[in-house]
Amino acid sequence: MIRDIKHWKHLYEEVVTTGLCTGCSACVIACPHDVLGYDSQSGSYKPYHFEQDGGATDCTHGDKGCTLCTRACPRFGPWEEEIDTYLRGRVREEEEVSGIYREVCLTQAVDKELCNNGQDGGLVSALIIYALEENIIDAALLSGLEGDGTTWKAVPMVAKSREQVLAAAGSRYTYCANPYGYPEAVASGAERIGLVGMGCQVSAPGAMASRRAGKIARRFALTVGLLCSKTFDDSIFEELFDAEYGIKRETIKKMNIKGVFQIFTEDGGYHEVPLKQAHHWTREGCLMCPDFAAEHADISAGGIGAYADWTLTVIRSDLGERIISDMESKNLIVRKPIGEDPAALQLMNKLSAVSRKRGPAREVNFQKRIEVRPTVKP
Ligand SMILES: Cc1cc2nc3c(=O)[nH]c(=O)nc-3n(C[C@H](O)[C@H](O)[C@H](O)COP(=O)(O)OP(=O)(O)OC[C@H]3O[C@@H](n4cnc5c(N)ncnc54)[C@H](O)[C@@H]3O)c2cc1C
Ligand code: SF4
Ligand code: SF4
Repeated sequence: MIRDIKHWKHLYEEVVTTGLCTGCSACVIACPHDVLGYDSQSGSYKPYHFEQDGGATDCTHGDKGCTLCTRACPRFGPWEEEIDTYLRGRVREEEEVSGIYREVCLTQAVDKELCNNGQDGGLVSALIIYALEENIIDAALLSGLEGDGTTWKAVPMVAKSREQVLAAAGSRYTYCANPYGYPEAVASGAERIGLVGMGCQVSAPGAMASRRAGKIARRFALTVGLLCSKTFDDSIFEELFDAEYGIKRETIKKMNIKGVFQIFTEDGGYHEVPLKQAHHWTREGCLMCPDFAAEHADISAGGIGAYADWTLTVIRSDLGERIISDMESKNLIVRKPIGEDPAALQLMNKLSAVSRKRGPAREVNFQKRIEVRPTVKP
């Protein structure tokens, strides 16, 4: 357990300004005094403290004993050990580079609309619709696109219906703090909330629960993780896709990453952008992230492997196991054993091992590591 006295001041010094902060927004949604904001416009994707009640670097509520922000942060203290122990009953072994899991398999939504609209096999959308219809959750925190979608600005959204889940299907490779939809979900009456997101986001409910963050921890009822090695700054659209390849963001229909950036345009065009070229636009919040396989989710999902239109599925918890089995028995999904594509499992572990190399060394967990751009708004 982290010591109870840790609050915003410590979060600011140990996470927000050290390069560890991923911008997941968990501290912001957990703050009971509404003194934290979230900057998603400038490309910084970081929390900041309002000038009132302690200023940018301190918090008067924290000085009086409030600790909700550090309890919620999935990068504060020895987070991996804490969350592993709480969720899985033990800390992962060194060789478990993709985290602790029960089974890896391949899945595909039987419903053609879900499969065709999904990024890979449509498992994530099918699963969220199932969880809503089976009353496992009242609402899901997803990522949609702003406006009519032509800006490709990914924004948090709350989904309560099949139509809303379908509208969010597919992947955007810029950042979106899905947990930030939490207040809207609660305001709409949701008590059991599902969270879809990359590893940096789906570790938040486990952090909250392991540190007894109260009601907010109890409300997260299901977590679905997305395999992820990085997201890109929004400026990649103008500065790379448009400037180098003449691809305007409003003409893009779908994007995927399969060894290269694949860009499909509305006029039926297809373009490939080498990932090496895109590296320059890697978002700062991803540079120190060690979690490729979304290790603290109930179920993690990815697109690697020989079978297009199937989702690589990592089942990690009792709940995850129950859901996948029930969906299969109700013919909502079909499942193949990973033995049919062993290279996919090897690749997941290889990519996880690569991400692990950039994680913070445990013994320097509480020290400043790199200088990052200012995160505090005037
Ligand atoms: C930023 C990012 C990086 C990824 N990197 C990899 C990778 O390196 N290797 C790999 O195998 N898989 C990666 N994935 C996962 C992959 O793209 C698919 O999301 C996954 O295989 C599930 O496919 P599906 O058809 O089952 O999901 P779908 O049914 O299409 O559902 C996808 C869900 O993802 C959510 N989502 C989409 N974009 C974002 C975003 N930017 N932020 C948060 N949530 C989002 C949507 O809300 C939607 O509910 C990545 C996904 C994202 C979002
Ligand atoms: S210490 Fe409490 S009031 Fe202050 S920022 Fe953190 S959660 Fe908010
Ligand atoms: S690499 Fe993916 S999981 Fe890690 S901080 Fe970036 S977006 Fe989050």
